[in-house]
Amino acid sequence: MTISLDIVTPNGSVFFEEDCEIIILQSKQGELGVMAGHIPTVAALKIGSLRAKINGQFEYFAVTEGFAEINPSKVTVLVQAGEFAEDIDTERAEAARQRAEELLQQSQDEKIDRYRAELALRRAMNRIEVARHR
Ligand code: ATP
Repeated sequence: MTISLDIVTPNGSVFFEEDCEIIILQSKQGELGVMAGHIPTVAALKIGSLRAKINGQFEYFAVTEGFAEINPSKVTVLVQAGEFAEDIDTERAEAARQRAEELLQQSQDEKIDRYRAELALRRAMNRIEVARHR
């Protein structure tokens, strides 16, 4: 038995696969492995990797914060952005990381800007990390 995976962003579905053996998500509570037959639930996701075993091999994705809706035969991942490891532009992620780090050094007193810069830094570092799996 397999489980399907749909990764949906505001731009629409960026990945769909009918036959996943297991889907491993990074939830705010920790790592969560989902196989066919899982009880229905919703999990909040953190910026991190998502990996799915398809035809015996893990495929890696970088995802931003969002939610996963889990059903016995389907996982729907709703995120602002998600990229297949192979599609990640590492130079762009490296530039984003540098920009975020510079902002964090400048904006010691501005709480909102710091928070946004910290999230941008986490997205960039996550993309750099996930891009190693290709
Ligand atoms: P940047 O500052 O480089 O735009 P960001 O973290 O602000 O990075 P997001 O807002 O998370 O970018 O994503 C905007 C869009 O760009 C999404 O469609 C996302 O998939 C894509 N994207 C962002 N960074 C990369 C990357 N390094 N490689 C490929 N696609 C990317």
